[in-house]
Amino acid sequence: MKHSLAKRYGAILAGMTAFVGCCVLLVNLYYLDRYASESISSGQQQLTSAMEKQMMRDADVIATTLAKGLDFAVYNNDFSAIQEQLEDLKAENHILYTYIYDTDGTLIHDGTVEMSTFGEPASRYLPEGITATNHSEIKKIGQYVHVAAPITVGGTTFAILRIGITYNAAENDILSFRSNLASQATLLRNNIVITSLSVIAMFLGAAAFIVFLLSQHLLSPIRQLVERCRLYTMGEAHTQFRLDRDDEFGLLGDALEEMKGAIGQSQKQVERLAYLDPLTHLPNRRMFNEELQRLITWAEESEEQVAILFIDLDHFKQVNDVAGHDVGDKLLKQAAKRLENLLASAASRMDMPVAENLLLSRLGGDEFVMMLPGYKHTAVLSDIAGRIERVLDESFMIDGNHFNVSASVGITLYPEHGTHITDLLKQADIAMYAAKQSGRKRYRFYEAEMNNKVVSKMLIQQGVREALARNDLFLCYQPIYDLKNNELIGAETLIRWKHPEKGMIPPSNFIPVVEKTDLIVPLTIWVLEHACKDLVKHILPRRPRFKLSVNISGAAMKDTSIRKEINQIINRYALPSRCLHLEITETSMMENIKYCTDTLNEWKNSGADIWIDDFGTGYSSLSYLHTLPIDGLKIDRSFVSDIHPNNTNQVIETIIALANSLGLETISEGIETPHQQQQLDAMGCDFGQGYLFARPDRIQNLIHQLDTELQYEEQ
Ligand code: C2E
Ligand code: MG
Ligand code: MG
Repeated sequence: MKHSLAKRYGAILAGMTAFVGCCVLLVNLYYLDRYASESISSGQQQLTSAMEKQMMRDADVIATTLAKGLDFAVYNNDFSAIQEQLEDLKAENHILYTYIYDTDGTLIHDGTVEMSTFGEPASRYLPEGITATNHSEIKKIGQYVHVAAPITVGGTTFAILRIGITYNAAENDILSFRSNLASQATLLRNNIVITSLSVIAMFLGAAAFIVFLLSQHLLSPIRQLVERCRLYTMGEAHTQFRLDRDDEFGLLGDALEEMKGAIGQSQKQVERLAYLDPLTHLPNRRMFNEELQRLITWAEESEEQVAILFIDLDHFKQVNDVAGHDVGDKLLKQAAKRLENLLASAASRMDMPVAENLLLSRLGGDEFVMMLPGYKHTAVLSDIAGRIERVLDESFMIDGNHFNVSASVGITLYPEHGTHITDLLKQADIAMYAAKQSGRKRYRFYEAEMNNKVVSKMLIQQGVREALARNDLFLCYQPIYDLKNNELIGAETLIRWKHPEKGMIPPSNFIPVVEKTDLIVPLTIWVLEHACKDLVKHILPRRPRFKLSVNISGAAMKDTSIRKEINQIINRYALPSRCLHLEITETSMMENIKYCTDTLNEWKNSGADIWIDDFGTGYSSLSYLHTLPIDGLKIDRSFVSDIHPNNTNQVIETIIALANSLGLETISEGIETPHQQQQLDAMGCDFGQGYLFARPDRIQNLIHQLDTELQYEEQ
């Protein structure tokens, strides 16, 4: 193991033990040595002093006793008796000398038979420092005790006995005792050293043993748990953390097991969240894909069929824009509930082998998808699709308000239409798109022919969305003239799309496609915003009464948000009245007639003029022309192109007469020849635009034209 606690703490324990042991040993040895040397020398001193005292006492006793024993022999000068007594004493090794001298200090006897010193002064033979005293005396000089004892008879001293005794032997004994003691102390010291080292060694052994125990009983469960944690981290979800112990490690194992449980729970929750749509709690795209894959495998093996119903809410964006995302979310939840209920009732009624595998999922936004495995007839699918239309067509009650959306449904079938998830989903989406393009609130089964048509439309839609984001769109302006005096009075704003690969794409190729989708809303806002900006920045400063026309798709009229936004833009740019014309084609106006009155009135109130574009092609009712707040009619190009030198156009005359009677202005588009211009003027048409005057071009061209006219006027 990389960082073994046992080794680390074992080394620390051993080091500490050795260190403390050595310190204790050294301190003990120091005190022992000190104590031993002090004890030995003080013992020696005490012994020596005791011995000396004893020696002196003994010498005194010997001398006194001998002096008493010699009194009569000395008194009688019985030298042989004296010699007899002294001889015994002198035989002793430690007796240095024996002398008897009289009170004058003259030697009487020296203990020998010869008595060669007789009559001589005692001081001559006595050792240095010793005098021939007449009284008792004990004196120690060097290793000798010199003692004098008076010899008395009848209380009178008439001689003195003097003896010299050496205690050399005793002192040698003491010295050998001392060396004995010293060697004992050394022995003891060695014993202590050995004992201490043994104790240290034992401690080290104990430390090693403790380390062993630690690693066996304490660290091995930790290692076990670490190993299991590692396995668990590597994905072994069934790893057990519980240890069969009733100590703290057992508790730790239990705690880890509990933690594993909690992690498992949160993992399940995360997985659930990863597979569920958080808003509706329906399976999300991921789960749908996995389930579909599973069912495709099942259908392949059991030769069954699987249907996929792609459901998209119509105009859901408007709910979001108008009422806010909270309401949009609530509507989605309610829609999900309705679809769920529908699926549940369908499951109970339908004869499907895997009814429990019917699946409703939310792919995102307002897109739901239903998976029906094992259906027997497409009639069942038509029935369910019809039901879906109906349940979603019922209005939604949210926060006390009613909201209406509908649904477009595309249906694709496995294996008839495809065998891969992506193909099936794409085809269901195409079928749904086709349903939307053919008027919404309907269902369509996928057909191979749809592919080209729908796909190209889808590509256009996608392309416009990207063009909006990438600024690949720009505006052109086609001048409008007063037909009476050829004066430039305004211009029509026409959108252009410069595709990065395909080049210029005319509006007739993408506007009709976009109009069928909610994308028309941001597109219209984009055009209006840019047109107003150009008007305020470049045009009005040069020509204050200029009239700028902007094409507004009828489809945008029913969108409440665009209505409001158009008002806001007009107000924001503070445009003078009558300088902004909103052109709405007659056809789209009639298609959205129920929204027209309110919408047109609102715009009119904001200061814009309303013109009907492509007039004459849309069969508008005269009563509408009378009641709607319209300012002018734009005669369709097809009527103008019919004007030839030998042919005046009755329709144009009628339109102009109608406009005059209603007090409306008239403008003709598509004027290509001077004859057409003259005829229109002669018929009473007010204004005109066409290639005869100018083609639609960038704002710079219009600015240039206005500047040239200004210069001309100034001259
Ligand atoms: P429109 O509003 O009727 O615009 C007039 C169309 O006639 C323009 O085609 C213009 O270029 C073309 N034109 C003008 N003078 C002549 C002429 O003398 N001869 C011929 N043959 N054509 C002439 P363009 O620009 O291709 O626009 C086609 C249609 O696309 C427009 O018809 C309009 O309905 C729609 N559109 C264009 N821009 C927008 C826009 O910004 N929003 C909306 N909603 N629709 C737009
Ligand atoms: Mg127009
Ligand atoms: Mg037109």
